[in-house]
Amino acid sequence: MRMLMFLILFSLTSFANAEPTPRIEIQKVTDNVYALVGQRGPMSKWNFGTNATFGVVVTSEGVVLIDSGASDKAARYIHEQIKKITDKPVVLVINTGSEDLRWLGNTYFKSLGAKIITSKAALVHQHERASELLSRLDTIIFPQFSVGTDTTYADETFEKEKTITLGDTTLILKYEGPNYMPGDFYVWLPEESVAFSGDIVSTQRMLAVARVSDTDSWINVFKSMQALNPEHVVPGHGHATDINEAKADTLNYLVLLRQAVRNFIDSGGEIQDVRSLNQYPLSPYERLIGYDMLMGRNSLHVYMELEWE
Ligand SMILES: [Zn+2]
Repeated sequence: MRMLMFLILFSLTSFANAEPTPRIEIQKVTDNVYALVGQRGPMSKWNFGTNATFGVVVTSEGVVLIDSGASDKAARYIHEQIKKITDKPVVLVINTGSEDLRWLGNTYFKSLGAKIITSKAALVHQHERASELLSRLDTIIFPQFSVGTDTTYADETFEKEKTITLGDTTLILKYEGPNYMPGDFYVWLPEESVAFSGDIVSTQRMLAVARVSDTDSWINVFKSMQALNPEHVVPGHGHATDINEAKADTLNYLVLLRQAVRNFIDSGGEIQDVRSLNQYPLSPYERLIGYDMLMGRNSLHVYMELEWE
């Protein structure tokens, strides 16, 4: 009897102590740079909008956070991860674009005293999408989880390029034209040779082409980032990596997708059939998470874009 009680107690305690799957993995990139790598699947009640990769730069003046998560709960969870790295305060939040994951956690960080910056074009698009994003959040993660999430916009914007110096750290924000979304840009740390790409790069996960994406310009934006020859790329989704993997999963895919859709159009393919476009050379991308979910939609959006080119 005593043994049975012990076994029951033991199994209860070990269950309580079991490590839950982390929603975010902390990946050290350089001495002062970290990637907070969230789930690579879609937003859900479980990840409550932490399903992207966020960047952390620890400077002598405080922490710079690149992208703030898609909900108030996500922002608080991101901050918990930052506290595991450093006890310095978050002084600056950079929103690399207008996807919900990039900026809907701003309210929390603003309440801590952080300054927020984004590009002029991203700010315009954030305003346009705000109510749609908030109601989408309610339907995906349900009101009890999205509570407290509100729109807080950047305190400062820039047009093309902005250099920020915090202590010994230099960050260069570079907007090179529309890509995944109209205002998305990347952040370049010359001394550390790190590029934070936001949604310009996805690795280990199928990238999403949105209705508003400009894939032609996206290719050029990627190439301009590549020309800096970064040693590390912290993508918008996926682990921090090098430029070769970023190129394989993003640039090469975009080039092939455009070519495949162009061939489809030239051979008389109709828009209603493009979703089933799944031909070589695109089949190698089946290895990426989310391929089945996104491939049809990506083809459709590129079709609509190429019709006008
Ligand atoms: Zn994204």
